[in-house]
Amino acid sequence: MDTRQRHTRRGVPGRKPAGRDAAARRTDQRLEAVIARLEATERRQRLLEGTVSGLARELGASIAGSCGRCEQSYFLVRSDALYCPACGYRRAL
Ligand SMILES: [Zn+2]
Repeated sequence: MDTRQRHTRRGVPGRKPAGRDAAARRTDQRLEAVIARLEATERRQRLLEGTVSGLARELGASIAGSCGRCEQSYFLVRSDALYCPACGYRRAL
């Protein structure tokens, strides 16, 4: 008979859980935490993208590809120029 039946998630109090099962549980818990963080980050990114696009529209600009000079920002595009708000690079159109 296998005595390592499923107990609670934390195992039997006062007894060390079987090493392999405990390691698998820790991995599952870490994976769940990473997935939760990824989903929260994706939600936050969607909100920020919506906010930045709205701000650009308010300024009469639009968002273009990322700045190859600094890789820290997307370009803002106006009718006359392309501008990186992070490093200040500007190019006339
Ligand atoms: Zn830049």
